[in-house]
Amino acid sequence: MAVNPVQGCPKSCEYCFLNERGQTAVKPERLVSPAVTVRMLLESAFYEPSRPVALYTWTDVMAVPSSRQHLAELLDELVRRRVSNPIVVITKCHVPDDTITAIASARARGSRVVVYLSYSGLDRDIERGIRHDALRDNFPRLSAAGVPLVHYWRPAFPESATAATMERVLDWAARYARCTVAAGLKVERAGLPRLAKRWPQLASTDGVTEAEGVYPRAFWEFIHRTWQRHPGYPVFHTNSCALAYVLDEPDSFGIYGSTTCRLRNVCPIAQRDRCHRADTERQAPTPEAIRETLARRGLGDVEFQISADSRELVVDAVAATNVIAALTRDLGVRVRARRDESDGYWNSGTIGTSPLILD
Ligand code: SF4
Repeated sequence: MAVNPVQGCPKSCEYCFLNERGQTAVKPERLVSPAVTVRMLLESAFYEPSRPVALYTWTDVMAVPSSRQHLAELLDELVRRRVSNPIVVITKCHVPDDTITAIASARARGSRVVVYLSYSGLDRDIERGIRHDALRDNFPRLSAAGVPLVHYWRPAFPESATAATMERVLDWAARYARCTVAAGLKVERAGLPRLAKRWPQLASTDGVTEAEGVYPRAFWEFIHRTWQRHPGYPVFHTNSCALAYVLDEPDSFGIYGSTTCRLRNVCPIAQRDRCHRADTERQAPTPEAIRETLARRGLGDVEFQISADSRELVVDAVAATNVIAALTRDLGVRVRARRDESDGYWNSGTIGTSPLILD
């Protein structure tokens, strides 16, 4: 689930999906108070206590004091209301000491906050307004405060897909983070001309806007061989697996046993055992349960097919990203449906789109 009570970012990263929404290089706008945020979350049709909640995905919450204050109050409110969902906060800005204290305090009171540090070795001409020295410093500072860190490594452009840059990024992350999530560049149709100015190949290649992500080949090869440089350091290509690992939970997104699980994710043996045990107890959803769940999510009377291993559901309908994500969690399967092109949120690797690798 994504919860966005503050929207708009004063930074202006060139690849950011907020560019197309007029939400970069703007003052963050506080839309609702922390108390109303929690009330709306708990009343949402998508709410369920085990579902991870990503906060402030339409801004960088660490960018300005008023947003950080909102976060501190929201964490207090989540603790007060005993909201047990895993909470994800993503940033590439400096996290001040008092905010680290607020996060650590919420964790000490039972909140399951995980911080994603978005660090990709890109320069300030792409990530405009970002202080990369301060971003690197976040790793040891948050780690020392006992806050679980996920290193978020996305996107890569050809200029950051050099051995020197990739080694510097991975070496730093592997010292402090619990794991890395590596992903490609999301390319929306409206953003393609802007992105192609920096990576011209995007404009001359079919399928970039349909791909789960676009990767320079050097980056793709590096992120699938990290075990050679840092044996034992987990690197995932699915956020859901990274979160499952950090939270000591089994996969619940239908990833277990897939090609991504078996051949791509560098996943520790203990986590694989956890997923295996959960899988042996898993009940495949029945056609009746699928039909009833689809109807509950507004997709009654649509055709669907469940794969032979019962891990992938193909729905013959247009569906919003939030509905697809909810169905995935409702049924514990990957869900493929046709994308709603007016949807402000991204498609996702869990809905079955494929990566695209450019030479
Ligand atoms: S075993 Fe597979 S499904 Fe489970 S967390 Fe690891 S990579 Fe993901």
